[in-house]
Amino acid sequence: MAGLRMIDIAVNFTDGMFKGIYNNRRCHAADLPVVLQRAWNAGVDRIIVTGGSLQESREALAIAETDGRLFCTVGVHPTRCMEFEESGDPELHFQELLSLARQGAEKGKVVAVGECGLDYDRTHFCSPEVQKRYFERQFELAAALKLPMFLHMRAAAEDFCDILSRNKHLFTTGVAHSFTGSAKDCDLLLKFTGLYIGINGCSLKTPENLSVVGAIPIERLMIETDSPYCEIKSTHAGNRFVTSAWPSKKKEKYDPDFMVKGRNEPCTVRQVLEVLAACKCTEDIHGLARTIFQNTCRVFFPQDLDAAADGVNGDGC
Ligand SMILES: [Zn+2]
Repeated sequence: MAGLRMIDIAVNFTDGMFKGIYNNRRCHAADLPVVLQRAWNAGVDRIIVTGGSLQESREALAIAETDGRLFCTVGVHPTRCMEFEESGDPELHFQELLSLARQGAEKGKVVAVGECGLDYDRTHFCSPEVQKRYFERQFELAAALKLPMFLHMRAAAEDFCDILSRNKHLFTTGVAHSFTGSAKDCDLLLKFTGLYIGINGCSLKTPENLSVVGAIPIERLMIETDSPYCEIKSTHAGNRFVTSAWPSKKKEKYDPDFMVKGRNEPCTVRQVLEVLAACKCTEDIHGLARTIFQNTCRVFFPQDLDAAADGVNGDGC
């Protein structure tokens, strides 16, 4: 598998599991350096750390500043949009988000606004009304900083497409990450939004998922892990196409040379690529990886796009 270069566009490195904390219980020391080393060894070229709230976005930026291959998003996730109201001053909260995003973009670290969007599967955290209000507001961040959008959409395709089309003058491009929708949702996104679609283990659970994913043009695909979540489980339909493996141990028996059982890591983005190759019926996994790499550069690293096109054996994006 030499020469495979991948970008994991969605990693939740602010999650407690990367500090060794599981369900409020410490099981091992923080271990980001070993997790990153496994990723770089697997052919991961860079990683986008996701921010899902103002505080998490601050942490994501701090993590991104520790390595030249790490980048991040700044934004508020649909299930967290109550934080605008609960802050007591939604406008001030928005301004703080804007200044954080500006500061990170000037450092070359913030590459997208997000994750933001709509999640109607989890309205118990935040009502659709509040989700819509602050989803719509975050396009202003994209416009002010000329950044792409990093989007989350669950069971809300119509409202999502509505809001996108109302705001299409405010942004140029983006990705709908962790896509798990139906063929109909997929068509809506492809035809009416121009967005790229991010695939992870949760997108590859059922035979229906695989056929939906198989129908997405490769020119519109990106890959991700959404670590520490969304691993490709042995029960997932996509699992039979996985060819690479990293042995794991339980968190109670932590060993830095092993993955932790149940905690996904960015090295496994390679498995997502392997399943995608099967869904697209291609044996040319290198060609697929190259196209996806270029898609990702086009959106998040446009300054590196030319190098990506002829960088087959090259260094850097
Ligand atoms: Zn998400």
